[in-house]
Amino acid sequence: MFESLSDRLQTVFQKLGSKGKLTEDDVREAMKQVRLALLEADVNFKVVKDFVAKVTEQAIGEEVTKSLTPHQQVVKIVHQELINLLGTDNVPLQESRPGPTVIMLVGLQGTGKTTLSAKLALHLRKKGRRVLLAACDIYRPAAITQLESLGKQLGITVYSEPNSKHPPEIATRAVELAKKELYNVVIVDTAGRLQIDEPLMKELEDIDACVQPIERLLVVDAMTGQEAVRVAETFNQRVKVTGLVMTKMDGDARGGAALSVRSVTGVPIKFISSGEKIDLNTLEAFHPDRLASRILG
Ligand code: GDP
Repeated sequence: MFESLSDRLQTVFQKLGSKGKLTEDDVREAMKQVRLALLEADVNFKVVKDFVAKVTEQAIGEEVTKSLTPHQQVVKIVHQELINLLGTDNVPLQESRPGPTVIMLVGLQGTGKTTLSAKLALHLRKKGRRVLLAACDIYRPAAITQLESLGKQLGITVYSEPNSKHPPEIATRAVELAKKELYNVVIVDTAGRLQIDEPLMKELEDIDACVQPIERLLVVDAMTGQEAVRVAETFNQRVKVTGLVMTKMDGDARGGAALSVRSVTGVPIKFISSGEKIDLNTLEAFHPDRLASRILG
């Protein structure tokens, strides 16, 4: 991901670097190219406009154009604005004291929720937490067995009720079990749909009301571009999302969703997932500065 955006930006900055002193026109021309590169990476139009305006305003200042290394100053400004766009700092997961900490995962079908529940369970176990997975996706026939087999493979307990048709009740009983057996964390894997629909949203609101998760993480497929941003806004209106997890960051999408979604929703990206394999290496706490550096190459 981001390869073509990185290449485009590097070309723009190399051209600037070859000029020595910079005029305001040089900077404006470079910003035109940056704008195009971001739009081609499928970054939200308003986000691009705002980003370019902020960078331009700083880059045409005298400290930059008259400095000894003007092009490096421009790169520095772009780097800082990318960090701001992505959220400035890492925002860690919140935990409930006394526990259990309830984390609800929401998102469309196929975004990687079930995979993420297992990865997150591993991540939290590494931090010394006892984790219970609650299988509340009762509609996709394979989802419960998928979670159970992941649980077995990883040695993590999965709470499921194969005959229940009421996800809010399943979640409630999972949390009761966690209290009784002193689990620190309950990760609730909810059902996704191919598209946002009313019964899905209502069900999430019901689960939310029953178990009052401290974290409501929206799982966003980074391969889906602008559509992902629209979906994120809708989910956020219905269940107040506390964090985003970008999945499939190993794919070859252009990266627009990852760059837009924080800015459009105001919700922090907390983790990025990059791979189908379930291990500690494919889930990372999100650090805006690291991604910004990766993009600038
Ligand atoms: P759910 O419907 O939201 O529960 O999605 P799943 O967890 O079943 O994942 C859907 C598909 O995406 C599966 O084939 C996963 O292996 C795959 N997947 C999940 N996360 C990632 C990721 O970070 N990278 C890649 N490449 N594939 C992923």
